[in-house]
Amino acid sequence: MSEPPDTEDDLSFNRDFPLRPGVAEEVVPGVRRVLCDNPGPFTFTGTVSYIVGRGKVAIIDPGPDSEAHAKALLDAVRGETVTHIFVTHTHKDHSPNAVRIKAATGARVYAEGPHRAARPRFESEMHKPESGADRDFDPDVRLGDGDVVTGKGWTLEAVTTPGHTANHMVFAWRERGLLFAGDHIMGWSTSIVAPPDGSMTDYMASLEKLSMRDEHLYFAGHGPEIRDAPRFVRFLARHRRAREASILHRLAKGEADIATLVRAIYIGLDSRLSGAAGYSVLAHLEDLVARGLVLTDGDPIIEGRYRLA
Ligand SMILES: [Zn+2]
Repeated sequence: MSEPPDTEDDLSFNRDFPLRPGVAEEVVPGVRRVLCDNPGPFTFTGTVSYIVGRGKVAIIDPGPDSEAHAKALLDAVRGETVTHIFVTHTHKDHSPNAVRIKAATGARVYAEGPHRAARPRFESEMHKPESGADRDFDPDVRLGDGDVVTGKGWTLEAVTTPGHTANHMVFAWRERGLLFAGDHIMGWSTSIVAPPDGSMTDYMASLEKLSMRDEHLYFAGHGPEIRDAPRFVRFLARHRRAREASILHRLAKGEADIATLVRAIYIGLDSRLSGAAGYSVLAHLEDLVARGLVLTDGDPIIEGRYRLA
């Protein structure tokens, strides 16, 4: 899932991604990708699943609950054995199909853990509908930061990257200098960071963590691969800090509620994305309140009023 596009930095994102749904494409030796047919304002052209290795393979992010996509993945590996299923995070466009692939192949499912939010819901948030969380997901093997999983011809290091969700994890193939980034880093757009599922404080720390690694090629959960990845990660961090600066600037002018901040900051926003934009602003405000730079009465919530400290 992604947050609304940002017009001023638009040139730095890449929306050129001609891959068609259901077609397995070998993008570099040992990495195939298959696009699921679930396009939308938050998923771009759809979820991208990856097949790692040859002969005995791993599947990363088997996608939403989709029989057609499971069939496309199984067709792509016909004559091969799926030994591992990895899941970057528990959103419904990434993890539910693990059940189908596991049933068809007997592969074990590896992930950080079941879904959890970054913080408990506040009382006022209790009536809100759930985000796109896959609450049924339960991995066979829980991975921690730095855990290494080895298959035939490949080795993946698990790297915890909370922020988009609390259990978000990316997988680095260090010998090959590449990394499967899930929804943490995407080339086509910034990621949604929406409390209470996500946390901006965690997200920024996870950007910092990846910017210090040396993998140069990232494969994302949506959209095209990212080359020169550490530079792109630093660009994303700058982009978030610029967003934070505009929020502080607007608060200094006396704008106090999230709807007004969204209108001022996201010019020309697709109306389908205004809710997500509001939660992104909330994520920044929550972080700013925690850092003592912004004040609000009571809990930092979507309906709250905010001012500079
Ligand atoms: Zn997601």
